[in-house]
Amino acid sequence: MPSTAEKKVLLAAPRGYCAGVDRAVIAVEKALELHGAPIYVRKEIVHNKYVVETLSERGAIFVEETDEVPEGARVVFSAHGVSPAVRESADSRNLLTIDATCPLVTKVHKEAVRFAKSNQTILLIGHTGHEEVEGTAGEAPEHTIVVNSPEDADLIEVPDPDNVVWLSQTTLSVDETMETVRRLRERFPNLQDPPSDDICYATQNRQVAVKKIAPQADLVIVVGSANSSNSVRLVEVALQSGAGASHRIDRATEIDPAWFDGVATVGVTSGASVPEILVRDVLDALATRGYETVEEVRTATEDLMFSLPREIRADLKAKEAATRA
Ligand code: SF4
Repeated sequence: MPSTAEKKVLLAAPRGYCAGVDRAVIAVEKALELHGAPIYVRKEIVHNKYVVETLSERGAIFVEETDEVPEGARVVFSAHGVSPAVRESADSRNLLTIDATCPLVTKVHKEAVRFAKSNQTILLIGHTGHEEVEGTAGEAPEHTIVVNSPEDADLIEVPDPDNVVWLSQTTLSVDETMETVRRLRERFPNLQDPPSDDICYATQNRQVAVKKIAPQADLVIVVGSANSSNSVRLVEVALQSGAGASHRIDRATEIDPAWFDGVATVGVTSGASVPEILVRDVLDALATRGYETVEEVRTATEDLMFSLPREIRADLKAKEAATRA
């Protein structure tokens, strides 16, 4: 067993909240402040148990579909985005919608619409069933084929192999996506690339940071929920990059004492939907096990911020005007 002097934590940076998650969570908080509870939210606003529980306690009601929202009530669309069919369903029930879709997801939706208009087949690399993929594919269902993995790339069939373009979910493993694209291109040499990266800056930055700490870590702990795509990818990337072991946990209480046999260096990171308080709890729990020295390893600095959804900005403006009057 390593001595306390040998034990240390390498804390990856960037980690935790991205600009899209921050904006979505604030949108629900502001909606609650402005309009009072309840505020309905379609799907989890972001994929994190703690965030969902905390907002529920404050009066948010999470539903799976808009038909569970009372006619005329206020509903927030989550950061993962929605398809046009969901918007139509909300309109048909006269719901007051607040769209917290991350602008970087909206960008992919717009690309899908554009490519579908020019009659191209969109090979959407992503995970079937993930809300973001459902939303993006829903922009052009007749033109979209979801490619789940590099193996899937060998199996899919397209109407015209010379008229194909690829797009992707924003929270995938960069390396695995590039492998999928390579295999798609082997089959479809004229495959067109998207105009810019779909895997977002936050996903990429967190993977680069975990790659940096993983080779030196006997164990990498990733804080994030099981349905958080980018958190799950961080475990995979840590293992592929040389971590002795890697586990994902929602909270510090899930740390298993059996993980620490012979472990001197523990890497810690968190997914893009994870509040820093959950990482602090993990660091405290590690300190009680003798891992008191914490060294932050930073590979990038992030300062991107998105403005709040326009519905919230309009309501805040109206409130300000009413206060002045
Ligand atoms: S992970 Fe990326 S795409 Fe998803 S909400 Fe954050 S910034 Fe937006």
